[in-house]
Amino acid sequence: MPLDLIFMGPPGAGKGTQAARVAPLHGLAHIATGDMLREAVRDGSELGRVAKEIMARGDLVPDDVIIGMFRERLSAPDTEGGFILDGFPRTLAQAQALDSMLAELGRGISSVPVFELGLEQLLERVSGRRVCREAEHVYHVVSAPPKTSGTCDIDGSELYQRDDDTEPVIRARYQKQWVEAAKPVVDHYDAAGLVVFIDAGGSREQVSAEIDALLARLGDGS
Ligand code: ADP
Ligand code: AMP
Repeated sequence: MPLDLIFMGPPGAGKGTQAARVAPLHGLAHIATGDMLREAVRDGSELGRVAKEIMARGDLVPDDVIIGMFRERLSAPDTEGGFILDGFPRTLAQAQALDSMLAELGRGISSVPVFELGLEQLLERVSGRRVCREAEHVYHVVSAPPKTSGTCDIDGSELYQRDDDTEPVIRARYQKQWVEAAKPVVDHYDAAGLVVFIDAGGSREQVSAEIDALLARLGDGS
C-alpha cells in the first residue's frame, strides 16, 4: 500500500518545509495546492485569474476549482508510490472528494500529522518567510537565510515575499482557513483514528525528529 499522507496545520507551521525534506527521502510526490495556484497566477491561466484576488484576501479558492485541479494532479504517475498533501484538503467537502478519489483507486490515507503552533509564533515565521520564484524553495530571513541574500541556494532564482504573507492576511487565513474551515477536516480524520498531533513549535531538528519517528512507525506498520 503506498504511503499517502496529509500534512495539516495553520499557515506558516512548517508543513512545506517538512514535506520538501521528507518527500524525496521516501519517494513520495509532494503536492502543495498553494504552490500550484501561485504557478497558475504566474502563468496568467484562467485558474490563475480566478485564484489571484481570492488568495490575496486570504480566502479559500472554491472547492470545485480545487478539487478539479487536485484530481488532475492525482492522475500523474509520480503519485503512484505515495504522496504528501500540503494544503489540501482544507474543507470537509475537499476531504470527502479526496476520500472518494482514493477509494476508487483502492487506496486510503495512511496518516494525518497535524502541525500545532500558536498565532504569535506563526506571525514570526510567516513575516520572515521568503520563497524562490523558480520552485517555491522556502527560506526565513532570520532562522534559515540563503547563502547570498535574496537568491535561492538551490536554483539561483530570486527570493520574494508572498503577497499574502502580511500580518492582516495571515490573521485572516488563520481564522477563516484554520480555526473555521479546517476544524471539521481534523475531526473527520481524527474519527478515523488517523490524526497525529505534532509539536510544530520546536526547532527544525526537533520537528524533523517527530516526523521521522512517525514515518518509521508507519513503515513498520505499527
Ligand atoms: P507552511 O508550509 O506550514 O505554511 P513553511 O514550511 O513555509 O510553513 O514555514 C514557514 C516559515 O517558517 C518559513 O520561513 C520556514 O523557513 C520557517 N520554519 C519552518 N519550520 C521551522 C521551525 N521548526 N522553526 C523555525 N522556523 C521554521
Ligand atoms: P498555501 O500556500 O498553502 O499557504 O496557500 C495559499 C493560498 O492558496 C491559500 O490562502 C488559499 O487562498 C489558496 N489555497 C491553497 N490550497 C487551497 C485549498 N485546498 N482550498 C482552497 N484554497 C486553497
